Amino acid sequence: MEVFASMEEYGYEQVVFNYDKVSGLRAIIVIHDTTLGPALGGVRMWPYQSEEEALFDALRLARGMTYKSAAMGLNLGGGKAVIIGDPRTDKTEELFRAFGMFVEALMGRYITAEDVGTTTDDMDIIKTCTDHVVGLSGTSGDPSPFTAFGTFRAMQACAKYVFGDENLAGRKVVIQGVGNVGYHLAQRLLEAGAQVYVADLSPDKAERAVELGAHAIPCDEVYDQECDIFAPCALGGCINDETVGRLKTKIVCGSANNQLLEDRHAQVLAERGILYAPDFVANGGGLINVSFELAPGGYNREQSLAKVSKIYDILLRVFQIADERGITTAEAANQMAEDRIRKAFEQKRIYLP
Ligand code: NAD
Repeated sequence: MEVFASMEEYGYEQVVFNYDKVSGLRAIIVIHDTTLGPALGGVRMWPYQSEEEALFDALRLARGMTYKSAAMGLNLGGGKAVIIGDPRTDKTEELFRAFGMFVEALMGRYITAEDVGTTTDDMDIIKTCTDHVVGLSGTSGDPSPFTAFGTFRAMQACAKYVFGDENLAGRKVVIQGVGNVGYHLAQRLLEAGAQVYVADLSPDKAERAVELGAHAIPCDEVYDQECDIFAPCALGGCINDETVGRLKTKIVCGSANNQLLEDRHAQVLAERGILYAPDFVANGGGLINVSFELAPGGYNREQSLAKVSKIYDILLRVFQIADERGITTAEAANQMAEDRIRKAFEQKRIYLP
């Protein structure tokens, strides 16, 4: 991979390779863009097959964080870190201490948090070496209920746009994946009177949602269900050439990251008359929640929920931009984020004594 070429093309600021002899830590920290503020993004621990694969993942994820923070109206930039290793077997105290020291060395340009393969316990160790860490135990807590609330508000915005009424009572919603986020989402939807259908590879997870009042369906049938909303809450890439033509829904709105396998699938959805809620807008609730740990007065649950609730307005603005500019909702969300960053950048030319 031509790293500098990629940095130039996508505007990355900094890529840092970190190695610690004592613990064997091999970590890459990527800072994509800090126009709006320090780069916040989790640290993922994963048994990458190659350094190139780890670097590619860190670059991709860091850039995604820039867009998500900007779209959520946060004064944060985008960054991400990856630790090469198996989270089940390779975790040690020294490893996370070393990582914390490298985060500290960036003097606040990058703020870390938990991600796939890391936990609040790991963040607590990192905290012994740096203050530039959020998602500690006893603070903002599990982000999933906040992500689910944001996705629920996104669904209400979609319903308002498509049906002229945000009320989800009686609407049929199919949730793919009822893990941490999907479960809380199912709960909110059932409370709102929606008919909820769920599918999960894990029968236990599906059963948990059925106990709430949802109906279980086989995993391979989610794309073929006639419904109002299809909610991908499992893995990325679920909207692809094989699935997009099968959808019989009016709306796609879920929490999964990178739902579209390729950008062009947004166009296919639009042509099929299906409204797509861009994933990084619909799933920004967890990021908003953890960002409140950085608020001057410290974490405040009510303020956090109030801000997550605004995902409703943010998404309606995305749809408005898409209509005005004649572009897909995915492009509109990107442009909305880029517009905010560009304006902040242009205003930075004013000298502040
Ligand atoms: P999770 O691992 O708890 O849940 C995912 C569930 O999907 C699991 O129960 C799994 O069995 C199921 N699953 C996987 N493949 C499936 C398939 N093909 N069909 C049906 N079920 C399948 O993860 P989570 O924390 O609930 O996150 C869900 C998605 O939302 C992920 O894409 C994640 O990146 C994204 N997300 C989560 C948060 C958060 O706060 N947890 C924030 C932003 C984005």
